[in-house]
Amino acid sequence: MNRREVLKKAGVGAVGLGVAGMALRPRKATAAKVYNWKMVTTWPPHFPVLGEAADHTAKWIEEMSDGRLRITVYGGGELVPAMEVFDAVSSGTVEMGHGAAYYWAGKHPATQFFAAVPFGLNAQGMNAWIVSGGGQELWNELYARFNLISWPAGNTGVQMGGWFNKEINSVADLKGLKMRIPGLGGKVLAKAGGNAVLVAGGEIYTNLDRGVIDATEWVGPYHDNKMGFYKAAKYYYTPGWHEPGTTLECMVNKQKFDALPKDLQAIIVAANFKANMWSLCEFEAKNNQYLKELVEQHHVQLRRFPDDVLAQLKKYSDELLTELAAADPFTRKVCDSYLAFKKQYEEWNKVSEESYAKLKYL
Ligand code: CA
Repeated sequence: MNRREVLKKAGVGAVGLGVAGMALRPRKATAAKVYNWKMVTTWPPHFPVLGEAADHTAKWIEEMSDGRLRITVYGGGELVPAMEVFDAVSSGTVEMGHGAAYYWAGKHPATQFFAAVPFGLNAQGMNAWIVSGGGQELWNELYARFNLISWPAGNTGVQMGGWFNKEINSVADLKGLKMRIPGLGGKVLAKAGGNAVLVAGGEIYTNLDRGVIDATEWVGPYHDNKMGFYKAAKYYYTPGWHEPGTTLECMVNKQKFDALPKDLQAIIVAANFKANMWSLCEFEAKNNQYLKELVEQHHVQLRRFPDDVLAQLKKYSDELLTELAAADPFTRKVCDSYLAFKKQYEEWNKVSEESYAKLKYL
């Protein structure tokens, strides 16, 4: 068949061809509305993985939208203070924000379930609960009260338990310990007689070095190595019982989101899905590399909290969740969903991941 026959067979006449030809011409630049948005973040500018996730998300959205949605990213304090991200997006001062939902516990206690719960779900479990276990629907319901919509936008994986200058051999060793540990983990430490203090990221090292605090947690080997904590503390403890799979979030002002064309809405959701996976991959790929450096080059003493210490902290954590759920009916609803999912997830996990993990001892 020659070209004319092919076209004839395909039912494309001269008129049809003309129309198709027009459709193939590049769209005029004026044809599509360009949205210029701002994203404020709780992270220092371009902070490894966390700030980078925000930068990448903006870049991916611009690429996927062929430049129709352009987002300028601001580090914490550049446009609004880090802890005002939620209010800035909620009020519509800016369109987007990047952080972690537990920073907004003061807005509503239920926010914490969408970031990290001590002895709670790990990264796989958090993703499964939020994406496929009803978590996202609850998150939408909660954030709609604040004119927001938010998605998982990264995950640290299980964090480390922190840096100490003495060994932790019993719960008594936690008594009076002044430790930088935020959120629900800090409240669990307080139940154990410890003194949880809040110290901004940039001041932790100096406080630890000068003995203003006795101990600190931060993230994992990749970030902790950069902070130089090995110069101020001898023991590096695992596991990060207080942050077993911290979920990051990317929030959008709901009215601004609803006003976008459907394809741009889908692009934002897709970019966050990608960022959620990318961040976890970064942590998983780099943490061991830096742990090796900490142990082999900086002679850090790696320790695991004794099982009885962890068991006692878990008891305190269970108490804390019971108290938290009693705060209001919505928090109870989220807590119930989270714990029911966790139970189901852990039963399967015993048979799947945990069973597989034992193969390495063969
Ligand atoms: Ca942490």
